[in-house]
Order: sequence, then C-alpha cells, then structure tokens
Amino acid sequence: MPTQNSSNLTAEYVGRFAPSPTGPLHFGSLIAAVASYVDAKANRGLWLLRMEDLDPPREPPGAAEKILLQLQQLQLEWDGEVLYQSQRLSAYEEVLESLSSRQLCFPCSCTRQQIKAMGSIYDGRCRKRNKPPQEAFAIRLKTDPVETEFDDLVQGLFQQNIGRDVGDFVVRRKDNFFAYQLAVAVDDAFQGINTIIRGFDLLDSTSRQIYLQSILGYPTPRYGHVPIIVNEQGEKLSKQRFAPPVDTKNASQLIHLALQFLGQSPPDGLRKACAAEQLQWAIEHWRIQAVPKLANIPQDSLR
Ligand SMILES: [Zn+2]
Repeated sequence: MPTQNSSNLTAEYVGRFAPSPTGPLHFGSLIAAVASYVDAKANRGLWLLRMEDLDPPREPPGAAEKILLQLQQLQLEWDGEVLYQSQRLSAYEEVLESLSSRQLCFPCSCTRQQIKAMGSIYDGRCRKRNKPPQEAFAIRLKTDPVETEFDDLVQGLFQQNIGRDVGDFVVRRKDNFFAYQLAVAVDDAFQGINTIIRGFDLLDSTSRQIYLQSILGYPTPRYGHVPIIVNEQGEKLSKQRFAPPVDTKNASQLIHLALQFLGQSPPDGLRKACAAEQLQWAIEHWRIQAVPKLANIPQDSLR
C-alpha cells in the first residue's frame, strides 16, 4: 500500500533529508544528503526536504536558502515543497498538549549540574511536582523502562532501554523551543516518511523517536545510519566546529568523494562526469550493504 504523504505525492518509499540551517552544508552533511537521496531514488522513492529551523539563535540569516542553493548545484533535487519546522509550531504545541492531558509529561527546572550529578541520566525527581516551578523550566516526557530495538539498515541491531539508558527526556526546552526529538517524530509522521537514512551521530536519538512514535500512535520508519566524518581528534565534523562549507564549484568531485566514502566504489572513469551523471550511476549501482559502519578520513583529503 503506497503511503500518502503531506505533499500529496505517492510512493512506496518516502525518504527525507533534514538539515538544520546552522550554516551552509559541509562535507559531513553532504554525505547524509547523498546517501538518503541515492537510497530513495534507487528504491524509486520520494526524497523530501525538511528544514529543521527550530533554534533561531543558532541559525545565521540566509543559511537555509544557502543550503537549498547548494543542493541544487549538487543536482540533489528534492520532491515536493520544503517543510520548515519553524512553521509547524502549532502542530508541536498540539502534541505537547495531548501528552500533557494524558499526564505523560511534567515540568522540570533541574540544572545541567544537577543532571550531571545524577550520572547524566535524569532520575525523574520532578515527576511528582504539584505545580510548575517559578523559574524557567523544561518539559520532560515520562519514560518507562522498556526495551526498544530496531534493525538498522547499516549498523545492524540496536537496542536501548529508554527508561534505564536515557531517562525522562526533554520535549520542550527551558528556552521554550521545542526539542529536536519531538519535532522530528511529529514531522516524520506528518510527511509520511517511512525510510530514514541519516548520520551515525543520530543513532542514539532513534530510540527516543521510536518511543515517541509508539506513544503517539505513529508508524515507525526503517532507519539506516551512515558513518560520519570525524577529524583526527575524533570530533564530529560539524558547523559548530567550523567545518568548511562545501564548494559547489567542485560538485562532481564532491559527489565522487561522497560515493567513495559510502563504500560504493565509483569507477575512476566517472571522476570527470558531471554531478548528475555520477548520481545516476550511483542510483543504478547503489548497495546499502556496502556502506561501512564507521569511517574516518583525514580532513586534508577534503580540500
Ligand atoms: Zn527536574
């Protein structure tokens, strides 16, 4: 049965790329974009685009537009309209109200230091509060010690006990912004996403999203977490660490490098082909089984 997604496009497979516009695309986010795009197209699926612009203080003006332009220059064409999370606040509010009316969440003003002192897993101490605190507070979801388990398309079986390993987690932050986990679960369901290919750094978030999906009665998509790039210090290549933006003048080289990184062994003869041709080759030859679980390439090779 094909799923009907919010853009009224229909396919058996609905995937997505969901960047946060905290800066232009860097090579690390390009890997996730290419992997999710090629996997969707190799499965004759849709590739939707969602801008995760929920954290205005961290979003430089124009970053979202820059990302869209970069994707176009890389020939990564998305299906349907771009969904902006900043325009979805009333949907998140509604879900939060329903969780609250089911008494599944609670206000918490605990500080970072207090949580660190709990061993970094929240111990549920504010669950029994009678009224919201005077000071700024976050809203946390009550979690039960249940095992969640999923078979990741790249990483294999992943298990986590949400109550024990994660604890009651934040669904609205102290600064009143909605938490990433809530917005993602709500929007993946809204957009009818059934396959999520994204960076390995989000593997650990997946159980929280699956937990929310089960509470909210949403279907659980398939997940595949592709390796991310770390520097020599083992740190994730990210905009916050000033990873250089990709220079889309070199679109075809970038796609070639991304495919190599994803274990697809593009032929050398393809190196000179334009980005669109390389992507077409990748769609025809895509093997998700060839994507390595972990990878590490020196940043020098990105220049
Ligand atoms: Zn608390």
